[in-house]
Amino acid sequence: MRLVVDLNRCQGYAQCAFLAPDVFAMHGDEGLLYDPQAEAAQRERVAQAAAACPVQAILVDELDLAAAGEAPDA
Ligand code: SF4
Repeated sequence: MRLVVDLNRCQGYAQCAFLAPDVFAMHGDEGLLYDPQAEAAQRERVAQAAAACPVQAILVDELDLAAAGEAPDA
């Protein structure tokens, strides 16, 4: 899967690094490093990280957008 983190939005809360440590890692106080071509096996963890990000900075392809913080229809 492909993912992008909007680093202009990212506030370094590190929720993503906690939930998907194989994909996201904090570097220093504020810098976030991540794997933009995460393996499919990381999908669930990435979905949880995207949903948990307080500023919705994590954007993912091939994921259920509802899990990434989009409002459901109902
Ligand atoms: S959870 Fe969001 S704000 Fe926090 S480090 Fe990750 S991308 Fe940045």
